[in-house]
Amino acid sequence: MLTTGPRGTKDILPDTSGHWQYVEKTIREVCRNFAYHEIRTPIFEHTELFLRGIGETTDIVEKEMYTFTDRGKRNITLRPENTASVVRSYLENKLYAGPQPTKLFYIGPMFRYDRPQAGRYRQFHQFGIEAIGAHGPTIDAEIISLAVELLNKLGLNELKLLINSVGCPECRPVYRTKLQEFFRDKVSHLCSDCQSRYDRNPMRILDCKNETCAEHSQGAPHMVDCLCSDCSNHFTGLKDLLTAAGISFVLNPRLVRGLDYYTKTAFEIQYSPLGAQSAVCGGGRYDGLIAECGGQPTPGIGFAIGIERVLLALEKQELLPFINNAIDVFVAPLGAETQAASFELLTELRHAGIAADMDFMNRSLKAQMKYANKYPAKFVALIGQDELAQNKVMLKNMETGSQNLIDRAELVHMIIEEMEK
Ligand code: ATP
Ligand code: MG
Repeated sequence: MLTTGPRGTKDILPDTSGHWQYVEKTIREVCRNFAYHEIRTPIFEHTELFLRGIGETTDIVEKEMYTFTDRGKRNITLRPENTASVVRSYLENKLYAGPQPTKLFYIGPMFRYDRPQAGRYRQFHQFGIEAIGAHGPTIDAEIISLAVELLNKLGLNELKLLINSVGCPECRPVYRTKLQEFFRDKVSHLCSDCQSRYDRNPMRILDCKNETCAEHSQGAPHMVDCLCSDCSNHFTGLKDLLTAAGISFVLNPRLVRGLDYYTKTAFEIQYSPLGAQSAVCGGGRYDGLIAECGGQPTPGIGFAIGIERVLLALEKQELLPFINNAIDVFVAPLGAETQAASFELLTELRHAGIAADMDFMNRSLKAQMKYANKYPAKFVALIGQDELAQNKVMLKNMETGSQNLIDRAELVHMIIEEMEK
């Protein structure tokens, strides 16, 4: 127990944290380019927010939340996703009073009691976007193109963009009735989850992963054939915009949400080389969510990308960058008397912006050189008894092998000059 983390969690060690930084840096660049700004909300919220903001009939709320009572008897949940928190923050901080639409992005850990496997963890990380305040399909096209742009920029191009429209509270009830009619004599063959979905949330039967349910869904009516004129125009508008932007897409009528506050556009990006966990991005419009959370009726749309899955895809395609942990200077003290002078030099180098380290293990000269070589370090600055007495440093260029005795006072300046060559 003490030496094993909880199931579904993972340590990100120094040999891979550089890959995370690379992906996060690329995310920040793309968001800046698209004028989305970062929001950081707390990792826990009142449970009530997620019951409202995600919906009580969803897998997340029914089976996946980390919920507990705190010492003040509050009902708290570790966030399983970030949209509800962003909407809460938007309302609490009156972001609607600022320039519209409100364009936000976030990066951070999420928590779900999922079944751990490759690409599926209990603590995982999402990058997501929320654009709140705009009705038209142009913002839908913008956020889809942001997701595609990011994945392409990282080098992933075997992407499959699936889109659908889930209608709105005006046209969906008609569809819902049609769907229930279609499943009426099939209910007893469906999995137990889908049997309860039949009454509560029949659209979700369409995205059940159970094979029997999938077979029984063959031939089910499609939401896109039942859209009201507003939803239909919106969907046509989106398809035209994506085509104009050169973003290819596939219509997938099984892509559903099924809660009242999810409206119109639903989309997913799959990266098929990932196999079972191929969904890297899921998103959609939520025109009813802000009112559901207590605000004025306000449209919104967003997506979330699973960062672990992106990293798995990058690893598979050998697109991860080389992590450079090299340093400029390794300071090598020889003997206890030289520690202070060495530490002083180390401090001075670092203040000058030079990446430097020193020996803390009382290694022999040979072992220090080996260690510096492994780093790798460009220079070794050696301070032995003689150097200390003469106020000099032996500077070894590890690339050329050349070695020179340098005045201590000139050393830092000289290294800076060497580095600029
Ligand atoms: P799935 O059907 O795979 O469970 P989901 O519908 O629960 O996905 P969303 O809630 O739409 O996923 O989350 C968006 C993205 O976050 C997913 O496409 C995926 O990349 C990532 N994701 C979701 N759950 C996990 C998890 N447990 N571990 C790692 N990544 C996850
Ligand atoms: Mg899930």
